[in-house]
Amino acid sequence: MLSVKNLHASIDGKQILKGLELEVKAGEIHAIMGPNGAGKSTLGNVLAGRDVYEVTEGSAFLDGVDLLDLAPEDRAREGLFLAFQYPVEIPGVSNINFLKTAVNDIREYKGLPPMEAKDFLQLVKDKQKLVDFSTNLANRSLNEGFSGGEKKRNEIFQLAMLNPKLAILDETDSGLDIDALRVVADGVNQLRSENNAFVVITHYQRLLDYIIPDFVHVLYDGRIVKTGPKELALELEEKGYDWLKDYDTQTA
Ligand code: ADP
Ligand code: MG
Ligand code: MG
Repeated sequence: MLSVKNLHASIDGKQILKGLELEVKAGEIHAIMGPNGAGKSTLGNVLAGRDVYEVTEGSAFLDGVDLLDLAPEDRAREGLFLAFQYPVEIPGVSNINFLKTAVNDIREYKGLPPMEAKDFLQLVKDKQKLVDFSTNLANRSLNEGFSGGEKKRNEIFQLAMLNPKLAILDETDSGLDIDALRVVADGVNQLRSENNAFVVITHYQRLLDYIIPDFVHVLYDGRIVKTGPKELALELEEKGYDWLKDYDTQTA
């Protein structure tokens, strides 16, 4: 599904990713943990195509498609979804209209006609129910005045509507209460299937009490320095990250 090899990326001439390797298969959930500033958000942003980052070496393929060759919008059309650490607010654009545009844009990319209005409304209804998202929030302006928890909920609703192949969730390091964590986790658990995959970026292990990852990776100083089973998250919680300072890339 996702194959990242020897990825190097910099911002303002500062090297952030330094040879990152990541292989994600369909049906899998991967957690990426690591200290602040390790490059976790950079990884998500580089894969999504934010243009402030310069990729200097390496490759990233999604289902055989060279992501680094594509404009950000084409990466999304190919099935990549990045949930931002800090979602943007877009006043004046209703959630539903935003999603209608996005859904039909993806259909057009695949050579399909726009959805019939009634089919679209049915899809909204079904997905709202699936991720327990209120009609009130669906009809409001995109993220405008949403609380942290509501923004998270909205992300999961967008995820359900767009049904991406690979979703990267970049969790905020703090400020998410337990209810917001549950929303994210329940959403991921509802939406996971044999045909998609998730990369969950998190600073703390508590999210992983609710989303059970197949693999936990430690991102340290721009590289994955250790990979292990879900128990690795607990070890990291207990020991912190400093003990990994001298690790070379290795697999537990
Ligand atoms: P993480 O998500 O693991 O906390 P980030 O990917 O956000 O780490 O940041 C990695 C490094 O890149 C940090 O040292 C950070 O200061 C730097 N960085 C991130 N964004 C920018 C930017 N826009 N300009 C300069 N440096 C940046
Ligand atoms: Mg950070
Ligand atoms: Mg971050």
